[in-house]
Amino acid sequence: MSQNEHIECLIIGSGPAGYTAAIYAARADMKPVMYEGMQPGGQLTITTEVENYPGFPHGVQGPEMMNMFKEQATRLGADVRYGMATAVDFSNRPFKVTIDESKVVEAQTVIIATGASAKWLGIPSEQRLNTRGVSACAVCDGFFFRGKDVAIVGGGDTACEEASYLAKLCNKVYMIVRKESFRASKAMQQRVSTTPNIEILYNTETDEILGEDKVSGARLRNNKTNELREIAISGFFVAIGHHPNTDIFKGWIDLDEQGYIKTVPGSSRTNIAGVFACGDAQDKIYRQAITAAGSGCMAALDAERFLAAQ
Ligand code: NDP
Repeated sequence: MSQNEHIECLIIGSGPAGYTAAIYAARADMKPVMYEGMQPGGQLTITTEVENYPGFPHGVQGPEMMNMFKEQATRLGADVRYGMATAVDFSNRPFKVTIDESKVVEAQTVIIATGASAKWLGIPSEQRLNTRGVSACAVCDGFFFRGKDVAIVGGGDTACEEASYLAKLCNKVYMIVRKESFRASKAMQQRVSTTPNIEILYNTETDEILGEDKVSGARLRNNKTNELREIAISGFFVAIGHHPNTDIFKGWIDLDEQGYIKTVPGSSRTNIAGVFACGDAQDKIYRQAITAAGSGCMAALDAERFLAAQ
């Protein structure tokens, strides 16, 4: 037997999916070990208030909620560790996962909960005003801009869906689309273009988001004429896509063309028996904390049943 550590269940990633998997796996006595990854707690640690997670009638701060998830998982016996999975070898069981390019853990089951990262424009004001009016999630943060004017960048289905969502809450929604056409499906384009309080600005890019402590406007540039204009807004939403954090699984796990893990519908099973996936790494549609948590529960139950059947 090798010198590597041998465990029953390894969980990679520590958002709502990973922690929920850890809670269920710990209670099933699978002695799960979790590596938290580059951003312990995941995407919720960069949001402010979470008002749509059931069980918190007065809302909860994203980072605080993730601390509570962690506390619950560790109290039940999950071994939560700082570290990042940097390579995998899924050729045989036990599966080998390299942590921080050095240590190798051998696991009978692996639960992938590595999440996704929102893409950002990459301008300095976007970073400076993040969580102060700049957000990458309309469903999470739109509520805070009720009755106000906001802007959303992107021309895909997500941007259209989020613009429609925002249009119900906000006074006015500017959609900032860099080309002269949408990438979104015709149905979604139709929806936004017929919503009276959505104004679509084609051929438009964001020069700067304006505001000292919070967003007060944006300076936009028409990329055909180079003309600049300023709009007054309280919220600036970025919806230009996400990257699933699945690069290390390429070549082992079946991914779709955008890199999301393919799971067998109605389960968390991947193409490799004993490797399960949950959360945003395999979900490009819903992307909510509650759906991620639900899928983490499924992954732990699937892993438990898999081990029981061996
Ligand atoms: P997409 O990659 O489809 O669209 C991204 C959009 O953002 C494009 O309009 C793109 O512009 C724009 N963009 C990218 N980078 C920049 C930038 N730096 N500055 C300005 N604009 C930028 O991502 P989505 O998240 O919209 O969708 C991902 C997948 O999920 C798609 O397959 C989509 O169909 C699917 N989806 C389906 C839904 C549904 O069916 N209800 C709902 C949500 C998503 P450009 O076109 O110029 O490249």
